[in-house]
This record gives sequence, structure tokens and C-alpha cells, in this order.
Amino acid sequence: MLDSGRGSEGVNEQDNSPQSSKVAPVLLDGIAGSPGLAIGRALVIETRRPGVVHRRVAKHQAEDEVQRYRIAVESAASELQDVASRASGGAVESSILQAYVLMVQDQTLGQDVERRIQLDLVCAEWALDMAVEQMASQLALAPDPYLAERSHDVQFVGDRILAVLSGRKTRVSLPESDELWVIVAHDLSPAETASLSRDRVMALVTEVGTRTSHTAIVARALEIPAVVGTAGILQHVANNDLVVVDGLRGRVVLSPTGDLIDRAKLRAERYSALTRELRELRDRPATTRCGTHIHLRANIELPAEADVALAHGAEGIGLYRTEFLYVDRSEPPSEEEQYVTYRHVLEAVAPLPVTLRTFDIGGDKIVPSLHVPQGANPALGLRAVRLGLARPELFLTQLRALVRASAHGRLQIMIPMISSVAEFRATLRLLAQAVDEIDARNLSRAAFIPCGCMVEVPSAAIMANELALEAAFLSIGTNDLVQYSLAVDRSRPELVGLGSSFDPAVLRLIRRTVRAGERHHRPVLVCGAMASDPLTVLLLLGLGIRELSMEGSAIPELKEAISRISIWEAEQLADDALACSTAEEVERMVTESYAPYFADLLDGEPAFEAGLPRSSGRSLDPS
Ligand code: PEP
Ligand code: MG
Repeated sequence: MLDSGRGSEGVNEQDNSPQSSKVAPVLLDGIAGSPGLAIGRALVIETRRPGVVHRRVAKHQAEDEVQRYRIAVESAASELQDVASRASGGAVESSILQAYVLMVQDQTLGQDVERRIQLDLVCAEWALDMAVEQMASQLALAPDPYLAERSHDVQFVGDRILAVLSGRKTRVSLPESDELWVIVAHDLSPAETASLSRDRVMALVTEVGTRTSHTAIVARALEIPAVVGTAGILQHVANNDLVVVDGLRGRVVLSPTGDLIDRAKLRAERYSALTRELRELRDRPATTRCGTHIHLRANIELPAEADVALAHGAEGIGLYRTEFLYVDRSEPPSEEEQYVTYRHVLEAVAPLPVTLRTFDIGGDKIVPSLHVPQGANPALGLRAVRLGLARPELFLTQLRALVRASAHGRLQIMIPMISSVAEFRATLRLLAQAVDEIDARNLSRAAFIPCGCMVEVPSAAIMANELALEAAFLSIGTNDLVQYSLAVDRSRPELVGLGSSFDPAVLRLIRRTVRAGERHHRPVLVCGAMASDPLTVLLLLGLGIRELSMEGSAIPELKEAISRISIWEAEQLADDALACSTAEEVERMVTESYAPYFADLLDGEPAFEAGLPRSSGRSLDPS
């Protein structure tokens, strides 16, 4: 095996010579699911379910069929529970698997299946197949990529129950040997991923999936390189084929030539050396060349990611997107369930702070069970805090859970999508009510719970001065600030080029917000994607930002980037950028002056497959 970024222990001496110089290499584009590079032999795993039995049942048999279904659900849930409790990798897989246990038992699916058995008089397998297909296709249409990705989860869950109904084996088994494999599959459920021993797998490649799919999340947690969404790979790869997996760029090369392998090895070695070096420096503070400390915190979606974030050297959680607790379920989570979840995160991260964002549901983050009216412009509709204020009981349930959780760590509450001071005041009143209700129940809580607001809407940036008077802190969500200030829908890939965070309009709104924070001694941080790119971070530091929150795995690289620059340089650059007229001018100026500084971190070295024509899975002519 080549080093995959996991260190060199356990390196497996495989024969990496090209299979045959006559076989043309094939380059497949996928999505970078988990960073790292690997070169090894493919082990193709058939995870797709075989055909589903279609059998009609007589009316008097329907009840038996319903019972058969219920027993299968219980058995699938206990199998998953069993895998969850034995998951070797840790909290991330375990919590995802626990979520699967709940999904298997989900009542919406169960009721639909039972209704189909009783009304359509079909066998349990057929009813389940139809119910799963309908639910999955509805989810797949969701504009929010996270929700759309959940359609695969529904299919996994359906497959687990189907496997029990048909007595099929559900565990993935590897050949008896010490070899490390590149696992290639149509898709891998968390249960399947967890049942693969990490000592036996050097990389994962799947045909479907995105960065937010659970395969990618688990792979990142296990630090196994992964490329997901590699359409059509199963048509091109066979067991034992030599494969190069580039989890940094999201590319897979089949039948690589000797020269390609040499270049890939070089790149893998460089990447490995860089990550080792950065990891060794994990506990160093993020300090600029001139000695200014920058606080780096992590963004998380799943509670179990908190551990991963800390392992990457995060100084706490700067954004916990709690809306992910509400998706994939028929009822919103209860106060008790939320309290237990938030408490777990706070205790895991204590004594470091955790900023929990109240749910940002609505817009493109659809939670079907809440029946939020979509309207023609969902991003401008009943979303986030607006939804909370329109449904005070729903909001109060979350606020009470947060207030209770505050007794167990350093909690800060953050309110998304604030567009006016009135909205923030109304939220503070509800928070005060939640505090009173918890006090009336004699439950413990922190004496003071800082409540800050997100600056994601231009009106909030314009009113930052007034908001800073009432908020404990301001947190700039640049993903939405770009969307709303430039009127570019962030969920439309074809518009991506128009929504640039280098735009001087965006920079001026950030500057204004920072000034407001300075005036009223309120911390101002950035938690959107701008906080994870060394070049935009340079601008943010120049604009006065000293606290950033980002994907945990970006932290080591960012620490290194920050250590190479001085605040003075950053300020000069930001001043020049603010004077520019267009996003292109800013981007060119920043890139020309600073990209060479960060060339290694920005991955500026030539790709190992440079010169290899891009293919959507077609064989390339070796000449
Ligand atoms: C943002 O808008 O920048 C942000 C951090 O929030 P989200 O991406 O969850 O909308
Ligand atoms: Mg946002």
C-alpha cells in the first residue's frame, strides 16, 4: 500500500506494478469524500439488493404479513444495534448507526408499508420496496444536498429490512489474508462501513454519495481516503485491478501506467509528510507570524463529530447546526431528547465553548414533518428564526433544552437568519421565557447564557451596530451573506461562479460588522466557508476577524497558513481589496500575491494524473 495519510505503520507490501502496459488507463471523476491517496488492489463489493419478490396476498393473510414485517423491523433494528455497539472506530459511526436504528423503526415508513399490505394486498417485501422508492425519490428532489443525500439512507434502511425478510446476509466480509484493499461498491451503509476493519481497508470508492453522505462522514472519521459519487466505476473495475484513489481531488484512476503510479506515489508521500507534520503541531495555538492569536473552532452537524473536531485541534465548537436533529423523522425531537444530545456535546467539549445554533429549518433545509409552506422563494420565506417565532412552541422546546444543557458546559446560543433588531428582541424574550420555565421546574442551568446573532442577511450587517448592543456576539455566516447580498441562490450549482466571497460588497458588509463589534466590545467571528480557505482567511484577518469556525479537518492546515502571515500584511491586503470594484480584481490580487505562499497547502503542485485526458469512465488510448 502507498501511504494514504494514515501514517506508514501497517503498510502492506503489494505488487504495484502496472497490470499490463496494453491496458489503457481510465480516469473517473468523483467527489472528494475523505482526504488522502492510496494505490492498491480493488475488492468489489456487491451491496445492491437483488430483485424484490412480488407476491400478492389474500385479504385474510394481510395481518400475518404485517406481523412478518414488524418482526423483520425489530430484527433489523437489533442487528444494527449490535453493529453499533461493536463499531470499532468510535463515536461517529456509533451515532450514525444509532440514527439508523431509529430510522428502521420510523413510523412514517412503517405505516406506509402496513397500509400498502392491507389495501394493495401485496407481500411485505413488495410493499416495503414501493414505500422506500416513494420516500427516497421525494427526498432526492430536495434542493438541500444534505436532505437529498438522505434518500440513500432510506434505501439502506429498506435494504436492511428486506435482507431480514428474505434471510439474506448483510455483513460485508473480506478475504482471509492480511492484505489491505481498495473497497469499491455501489454504496456502503454506515453498518457496512463499520463492519469493515480499518486495518484491512486502504481506501473506499463508491458509485453514489456526496460529501455529506454517511460513507464520506465515516471515512473522514476513520481517516480512510474516499472518493464517492464515482458514477459508473463498477462497469470498469474488477476484483484485483490496480486502482489509484485520490481522495483529495475526488479522482480514481484504473489500470494506471507505471509513470502514473510513480507520480501518484510522490504525491501520496508529500501529502502524508504534510499531514504528519501538521498533526504533530495539532496542539500549537493558531498564531500569526507577528504573534496574534486566532481562535479556530469547528462546525459540526452530528453530535459525534465533536470528538473529531477536538482531535483536529479545534478550540471548541463555533457552529453546531442543530437542524440536523430534525430531519428524517416524523416528529420533531422532544425537549428531553434534545437536552440529552446537547448535554453530550457540551460535556465532550468542556471546558471549551460550544456555540449551538437554534434550528435553521426552512428555505432549502426542508423538514417535511413540520409542513413549512415553501412559497415561490423559499430562501426568502419562513426560515430559521422566522419559523421559530411563527411556531413559538417548537422554538420554546428547543430553547428549554438548551437552557437545561447549559448546566453541563460552556454554552453559547446563536440565532440564525436575523434580519432585524425586532426579530432578535423577540427571540430574547422567548429565551427569557424558557429560562423562567426551567427555573419554575427547579432544574439547574448556567447563571448566564450568552446569546448571539448570526449576520447572514445584509440588513443585519447594516444594523450591526444596533444588534451588537443587544447580542453577546456576532457570527457572520458568509455562505448566506454572499447569497443574500449578491442575490445568488447558493443551492444552484450553475450560479456558483456568481456568488464570490471576494466580492467587495461582501467584504464591506463584513468590515462594517467587525467595526460594530469593536465599538461595543463584542466578539465577531466568521463561520461560513470563507473561514476555511487560507486566501479568504487572509482577507478576514485583515478586516479584523480574530475568531473562525470551520470544518474540523481544515484546522491543521489553517493553523499553518496563519503562522505564515502577519496581521500587518493582511490589513494591507484587506485595505486594497476594499478599494477594488469587482470580485475578479480582488481574487486576482489576493491570488497573485499570496497563493505562492500557500502553494503546498492549496495543493498547488501538479496533479499526478496531469496530462491524462478526463474521461467519464471511457477507456483512454494509451498513445
Ligand atoms: C452560513 O450561512 O454561512 C452558515 C454558516 O450557515 P449555513 O451554511 O448552515 O446556512
Ligand atoms: Mg446560513
